[in-house]
Order: sequence, then C-alpha cells, then structure tokens
Amino acid sequence: MLSFSKILFTALIIVVVWQGFKLFNRGKQVSSNEQPKQTGREKKKQTKPIAHELEKCPHCGVYHAEGNAHRCDT
Ligand SMILES: [Zn+2]
Repeated sequence: MLSFSKILFTALIIVVVWQGFKLFNRGKQVSSNEQPKQTGREKKKQTKPIAHELEKCPHCGVYHAEGNAHRCDT
C-alpha cells in the first residue's frame, strides 16, 4: 500500500517536473522567436520617381507628361 507521504512526494515531483518542462518549453519558444523576424525594417520605402507635371490634352482629355510627344488615338 502506498503511504500518504509517498503519494504526496510523487505528486510533488510530478508538479516540479511539469513546471520545469513548461518553463523549458517557454524559453525555447521565446529564443526561437527572437532570432528571425528582425529583418522587416530593412526594406526602405522605395521613393517613387517624382511624377512629371502632367498636361491634359485639350483634344482627347488624356493626361500626358509635359513635353512628351502625344498622339491622339481617338
Ligand atoms: Zn490627345
């Protein structure tokens, strides 16, 4: 027959091992999460080429870059 103290002792060991395992797993997850995912800010915002002044064609209403040759298709 198991004595009460033995049961208590076994339960204590189980709890200690369980808690230790939980801490171990948590530490592993944190350390593995910290390593990657730090390169997100490497990408700088690509500055778009400054749009040239657009001129509206008086004939067809199409906006075209100033100075560029424009042919009215319609
Ligand atoms: Zn036009």
